[in-house]
Amino acid sequence: MTHWTTKLIHPDAHAPAGFESLVTPVYRGSTTVFRRAADLSDDWHHEAGYTYGLRGTPTVRELAVRIAALEGGERTFITPGGQAAIALIDFTFAESGAHVLLPDSAYGPSRDLANDVLRRFGVEVDYYPPLAGADVAGFLKPNTRLVWCESPGSVTLEVQDVPAIAEAAHRAGAVVALDNTYSAGVHFDAFAHGVDVTMQALTKFVGGHSDLLLGSVTVRSPELYERLGVVHDHLGMGVSPDDCSLALRGLQTLGVRLAALEQGTLHVARWLATHPAVRRVLHPALPSCPGHETWKRDFTGSTTVFSIVLAPEVPRETVRALVDGLTLFKIGWSWGGVTSLAVPFMRPRRDHGRPEGPLVRLNVGLEDPEDLVADLAQAFERAGLAT
Ligand SMILES: *Cc1c(COP(=O)(O)O)cnc(C)c1O
Repeated sequence: MTHWTTKLIHPDAHAPAGFESLVTPVYRGSTTVFRRAADLSDDWHHEAGYTYGLRGTPTVRELAVRIAALEGGERTFITPGGQAAIALIDFTFAESGAHVLLPDSAYGPSRDLANDVLRRFGVEVDYYPPLAGADVAGFLKPNTRLVWCESPGSVTLEVQDVPAIAEAAHRAGAVVALDNTYSAGVHFDAFAHGVDVTMQALTKFVGGHSDLLLGSVTVRSPELYERLGVVHDHLGMGVSPDDCSLALRGLQTLGVRLAALEQGTLHVARWLATHPAVRRVLHPALPSCPGHETWKRDFTGSTTVFSIVLAPEVPRETVRALVDGLTLFKIGWSWGGVTSLAVPFMRPRRDHGRPEGPLVRLNVGLEDPEDLVADLAQAFERAGLAT
């Protein structure tokens, strides 16, 4: 007879098997048990089964295969956040002596990683104008290993000619990576447009409710899966099965949320385009957005994040007063959830030309669009920007 404390750990009785849930169970665990010592393995490929929780429990791997299917890629890695997904790509394809190109409109923290960390490891980092298209060739060097795209760009929303950039980059032997967060991996078919590796912040639309942080990296080919897999494993990018469970739930309603969000956002953006204090609306589906024609050619829809440009003479305090005057739009980072958000950007960092005036980046949530318009109207008025 074993002691009762041993039985707590090795019980005799178990619940019956056979519950066929409609949803993927949350499998927590660091350790998966091998039947025999000869079965022990620490191969990250885990094609034949599971080796260790850090490489993903069934909940994590379920999310990975669903993202791969959604994006039409070969395989997907799940990462602790979108920024970790960017880091995984950088650390896989950059090496000492290599050259990496980023669009000038890149997500700020991606810029920081390249400037502060990649350069410290002896990587050359340059920025190209996001609308360069085939002219990106002029920025390529014999040692260019990685060309990033982000379309539309962060804050300034330039829609890139990704096929033209990919063609030039491939001719120079570089890998093309795309931050496809804006499109939720669905409104822009990255692999059909020449991209090799995509990432998205699942934090945004897949999560969809501002309650988790996750990222994904999806690859076009088995060769790229091998190259990224080693680095993903060695960096120890484990993720929470609970967060993956929330992301799997978010995926089920992604279609209806994106449809409703697109319409609500367009309603708000079109109203803003008529407001006298708004110089320009940077929304890919409006002709006022740089690269709008490319968006029409390559995208199947638009999403929730866009910016408005105010006149250059509008002072910083007035831009802040406009944002502070909003009541339904909250002030905060990130986007893609159910809540509308606003963030002022006085002077976004750019190597190739600055925006014509201060910007406010908006994210439209699932509130009634008419209420959001009324909120904006009163905030413009209170900031003295009504005319
Ligand atoms: C939010 C965001 C990221 C980073 O995602 P996190 O999950 O917050 O790390 C990366 N790229 C873009 C374009 C983003 O908007």
